[in-house]
Amino acid sequence: MKKQLYINGEWVEASTYMPLYSPYSEAHIADIPKATTEEVDQAIQAADAATRVMAEMPAYQRADILYQLAEKLAERKDEAARIIALEAAKPFATAKGEVARTIETYRFAAEEAKRIHGETIPLDASASGTGRIAYTVRKPIGVIGAITPFNFPMNLVAHKVGPAIAAGNTIVLKPASQTPLSSFFIAELLEEIGLPKGALNIVTGSGRTVGEQIVTDPRVQMVTFTGSPEVGIGIRNKAGLKRVTLELGSNSAVIIDRDVDVDRIIPRCVTSAFSNQGQVCISVQRIYVHEAIYDTFVEKFVAQTKTLKLGDPLEEQTDVSALITKKDVERTLSWMKEAKQAGAHVITGGSAQGNVLEPTVIVDATKAMKVSCQEVFAPIVTIQKVSSMEEAFASVNDSRYGLQAGIYTENVYTALEATEKLHVGGVMINDTPTFRVDQMPYGGVKESGVGREGIAYAVEEMTELKLIVWNKNN
Ligand code: NAP
Repeated sequence: MKKQLYINGEWVEASTYMPLYSPYSEAHIADIPKATTEEVDQAIQAADAATRVMAEMPAYQRADILYQLAEKLAERKDEAARIIALEAAKPFATAKGEVARTIETYRFAAEEAKRIHGETIPLDASASGTGRIAYTVRKPIGVIGAITPFNFPMNLVAHKVGPAIAAGNTIVLKPASQTPLSSFFIAELLEEIGLPKGALNIVTGSGRTVGEQIVTDPRVQMVTFTGSPEVGIGIRNKAGLKRVTLELGSNSAVIIDRDVDVDRIIPRCVTSAFSNQGQVCISVQRIYVHEAIYDTFVEKFVAQTKTLKLGDPLEEQTDVSALITKKDVERTLSWMKEAKQAGAHVITGGSAQGNVLEPTVIVDATKAMKVSCQEVFAPIVTIQKVSSMEEAFASVNDSRYGLQAGIYTENVYTALEATEKLHVGGVMINDTPTFRVDQMPYGGVKESGVGREGIAYAVEEMTELKLIVWNKNN
């Protein structure tokens, strides 16, 4: 399967191609265009030329395009899930969940397209403002450069394409090199619907070249990036005065208080640690358990972990499949080795079968070990004993990251303390940090990023406030 670039509403043969392999079977699954500087330039040019038609399109039409996209995706949902499973090695059942969320994300975007509005300002609150009428409107920002990661190749693209169209912007999208097929699939659907030419352009190729060109081109008004902190920080440094939204990584934690019914929460905790092989930005990486129930929790968590089925992502029963690259398998094995040498214990998992890393539980890790303090992005979790909730809050906060955190407790005062003390973008009471639905404000503090997604919040970031003042005095 040879894919083409999507520029100005046309499928464009590229001058250079790169092979795409399945992370699980390593089979050759497609040839992907490697966009040249000229091709990226054409995509930006097309997006720039289409800004007017998109800015002038009435809200009901923008909403209609997004509703139709959601409907078409729903009709082809299994095909979409297979694409995700194939290119990302996301287990099929999880991939189906991502498609269901993507449909909902585009529906939310359709709804938001209809409620973008400003407010009236009482200028006569100042004596000098008497006799004037003022209001604000929200205007589309123009060309949006969107750069997306591999781990949710359809829904995280929807979190950029959806609000961008809802707000009347145009887009140049650079999907992750490992997962471009999901983006091309969405472009095919939008083409069938009749999205104006140039409103969405997709250029593939290495982040370092294609991505950087998008970030530094003066015609691109905003960069919305989801990916690793290293790349995100580099983008911010190069983006100058462009608006920048960064949705970055984390080493998310959940706290388990002494009074919790362990049996009730174990399945949710295990899924939150190992879903999509732990390659989720809010995956549970650190678990802090009160010493009173620590042994019970560890024993039951390990027992549940052992029930997970490893294997082919295209099989319905698979829970855990391949990591995205061989390099990530090697990296995580070396991090585990470092932890073991420094005194931690791997109590289940710890080895790889091909590119599939076994779901791994580590105890006695210290905060300085990479498996604890860096984003592991793999099916590895550390469980640590704490003697008080104060200690747990301090441990959660002792991180470069701050995306979301969770706490299970029966004590309402402890829960309230958690909401106040945990320094993160979102606190989940009686849930893991992995909870996300697509309309909620989502984003982090510290090295987890700047700005918020969640359609209404992304629309706000993707529009500019304009003030209008009418003078009645002359
Ligand atoms: P990544 O390596 O940072 O890549 C993300 C995107 O950036 C890819 O499209 C990549 O292209 C591109 N890129 C790489 N270098 C670039 C550069 N110098 N300039 C511009 N673009 C560049 O991240 P990933 O491995 O795909 O995804 C995993 C990371 O994403 C994790 O840290 C995870 O926590 C984070 N994430 C965050 C959220 C959130 O909402 N907060 C959600 C999901 C994932 P190539 O693929 O061609 O390198």
